[in-house]
Amino acid sequence: MQDQYDVIVVGAGPAGASAAIYTSRADLDTLLLDKGDNLLNKVDLLENYYGFPQGISGKELLKKGKQQAKKFGTEIINEQALSIEIEGQEYKVETAQEEYLAQGILLATGVQQKKPSVGGIEELEGKGVSYCVVCDAPLYRDQKTAVLGSKDYAAKEALKLNDFSGNVRVYTNGKEPRMRDSLKKELEKQDIEIETEEIKEVVGEEELKAIDFGDRKVELDGLFVAIGTSGTLDFARTLGLEINDGYIEVDEENYTGMPRIYAAGDCVGGERQVAIAVGEGAEAATNLIEDIKGQKYSDWSSI
Ligand SMILES: Cc1cc2nc3c(=O)[nH]c(=O)nc-3n(C[C@H](O)[C@H](O)[C@H](O)COP(=O)(O)OP(=O)(O)OC[C@H]3O[C@@H](n4cnc5c(N)ncnc54)[C@H](O)[C@@H]3O)c2cc1C
Repeated sequence: MQDQYDVIVVGAGPAGASAAIYTSRADLDTLLLDKGDNLLNKVDLLENYYGFPQGISGKELLKKGKQQAKKFGTEIINEQALSIEIEGQEYKVETAQEEYLAQGILLATGVQQKKPSVGGIEELEGKGVSYCVVCDAPLYRDQKTAVLGSKDYAAKEALKLNDFSGNVRVYTNGKEPRMRDSLKKELEKQDIEIETEEIKEVVGEEELKAIDFGDRKVELDGLFVAIGTSGTLDFARTLGLEINDGYIEVDEENYTGMPRIYAAGDCVGGERQVAIAVGEGAEAATNLIEDIKGQKYSDWSSI
């Protein structure tokens, strides 16, 4: 194992693997670090990713992405990046086991959903409890749904969900709603009520049945958790990267503003979709390749 690379990609989800395919195909020594708890592993069927008419499981898609990166020479190591620091002209990435150096860094750490401390939620994930309106709302067409959250993000998810369900409530679980006035007005306009009562538990066995408030139960087909994200921004902070609303700030080239540091996928915000993460990984990688090689990236267009 070497500890000196051209590029270190942090995170082997769709954005990171896509980026590593590009950098290693461009003959840059690439290390792909992953701590290995990708939520996509739990998704049985993705139906909206290009090229898989029968759909594909999240696990299989992640495996294929890593296989493809490996084929072009990417080294994949299952370690968690704990810190990234400037070391002379390079960057040093530290894990619990090793230190690695690279000229360029590509952050593709995704987001970690905060889990609410409400009984029954975890057991019913994928059985009526979802963390992604864009992904799962079409499954709840004309059904009874709710969003769990109290901030702008929850309001936005509720409005998107309402296009499909037409029957949405927002439950804040004891928190005061802290949403922009314009979003509150839009919720009102669409008859989406906000209820602040504390939730005792969510109920169901094979699938979600209801929310139990202690003194009453409300039947429900789908509950969408929208309480924001946590986790993977610590090294962005120590590097002094701009963070906006919990996401790494990048420009249209996925550049963070720090020399040869790019970021892509869910960690930069926007729609959380595999196709978008893959595209951003490619965008970030091609720009990083140009920075490192000092020449325009070319692949098919030079043929
Ligand atoms: C339940 C669910 C269902 C979904 N369904 C769909 C769907 O049907 N269609 C669709 O297009 N999208 C879907 N999505 C969204 C999709 O999974 C994401 O948009 C996509 O995975 C984002 O890719 P990413 O590479 O940015 O991040 P991720 O896939 O989250 O990958 C980030 C990786 O970085 C690793 N990592 C984080 N921090 C570190 C660190 N410090 N060191 C090393 N490794 C680190 C993590 O372990 C993870 O493997 C779904 C998401 C969820 C949660």
